[in-house]
Amino acid sequence: MTAVAEIMDYDDVVARFDPVLGLEVHVELHTNTKMFCSCANVFGGEPNTNVCPTCLGLPGSLPVVNGKAIESAIRIGLALNCEIAEWCRFARKNYFYPDQPKNFQTSQYDEPIAFNGYLDVTLDDGEVVRVEIERAHMEEDTGKSLHVGGATGRIHGAEHSLLDYNRAGVPLIEIVTKTISGTGARAPEVARAYVSTLRELLRALDVSDVRMDQGSLRCDANVSLMPKGASELGTRTETKNVNSLRSVERAVRFEMCRQGAVLVEGGEIVQETRHFEEASGTTRAGRRKETSEDYRYFPEPDLVPVAPSREWVEELRGTLPEPPGERRARIQAEWSLTDAEMRDLVNAGAVGLVAATVDAGATPAEARSWWVSYLTQQANSRGVELAELPIAPAQVARVIVLVNEGALTNKLAREVVNGVLAGEGEPDAVVEARGLKVVSDDSALEAAVDEALAAQPDVAAKIRDGKVAAAGAIVGAVMKATKGQADAKRVRELVISRCS
Ligand SMILES: [Zn+2]
Repeated sequence: MTAVAEIMDYDDVVARFDPVLGLEVHVELHTNTKMFCSCANVFGGEPNTNVCPTCLGLPGSLPVVNGKAIESAIRIGLALNCEIAEWCRFARKNYFYPDQPKNFQTSQYDEPIAFNGYLDVTLDDGEVVRVEIERAHMEEDTGKSLHVGGATGRIHGAEHSLLDYNRAGVPLIEIVTKTISGTGARAPEVARAYVSTLRELLRALDVSDVRMDQGSLRCDANVSLMPKGASELGTRTETKNVNSLRSVERAVRFEMCRQGAVLVEGGEIVQETRHFEEASGTTRAGRRKETSEDYRYFPEPDLVPVAPSREWVEELRGTLPEPPGERRARIQAEWSLTDAEMRDLVNAGAVGLVAATVDAGATPAEARSWWVSYLTQQANSRGVELAELPIAPAQVARVIVLVNEGALTNKLAREVVNGVLAGEGEPDAVVEARGLKVVSDDSALEAAVDEALAAQPDVAAKIRDGKVAAAGAIVGAVMKATKGQADAKRVRELVISRCS
């Protein structure tokens, strides 16, 4: 049993130490096929159904590189203001682990496809921090282990383990920052804002699903502390696979407080990987960190070098989306938003989502209203980021269209959204399955109106006398009888026409 880590007060940590960060983000590309074979690249699926001799590393199989993955890697590198290698190779990263059937991972080592870039990140109060990018390189994902029979789902205490190689060989881009220092107390916020901005950029590039909840975007956070005034970097820890933006911020903050407590007691930070525990907001020790020598990298002999022509690189540069900062300024002008409204939209992580909803056919005002009010409430109550809600901009746009067409009332629209969030399928399927269509058939409505008038003869008499204000009671009764599925305006018209 390990002792519970001592935690230092956050204000004390930042008063005595300068935090230094290094962020590694793995992005799964959403190419049709895997990195080195023609297996389908899809999330989920029955275990071990998207596999072949190449991604299983069977003897005699040979890899062929996925051209679309190279294209995406170059576009990501360009969007991150990187230089693109004129010539680079893949390398074997050798290690034995059950989820890696080849016993090595095909990756890149000292010859990454993209290097020396930067990403400008806007913090909540508008301050811009430039995060320098060391490299973006191509590699393949590993399979997944499932540890069965233990209480925690971890290997310790499990009775046996199952392996699913569907993910083995899925194209990955690893984006590594240079050390980020000088951010002081804002380090956790900078980490979160960096991942958030990067995700927005990758979504705009349309190269990945960027779903942190499904692991298509994963962040490893390297954190170390340097005593104020010191010039030598402290020993760092690497917290692995943090799977939400909120967790990135919490994990960095926790590591700063934990390391501060160790250092003021005269202790030493162990260079190791750590795992973030979502429930407690703490990190726990994983394995001791290997150094690159441990992996015995060597150039991959089965793949030809990648040598993108300068013409191709320039052609790809022409396909880049607007940089996130410029895009925000343009959107603010186009949607006539005040600075405060724009900041709310940015803080909610909703800019890209609203823009995508508008692209899918909704007006900016309606799209913004859904994302910053109802859907933000839903995200908060689930403790996830807005973009992690299981609803796509196109689905929100469809709901808005159904409301505009009069097929849904606002109340029914929220029920449809709840259905989509609950995994019941597309909006139209939810409408069908839950029976949520507005009753627009006049004969059905007329019958309900007549019934309500008959039930309240005194009210009916008032309306016939010209007191149309009394119609509200009948409209209310009809709405109740149709469980809110009638268009109130149309009901009112019918009530008045039946009484005249
Ligand atoms: Zn395969």
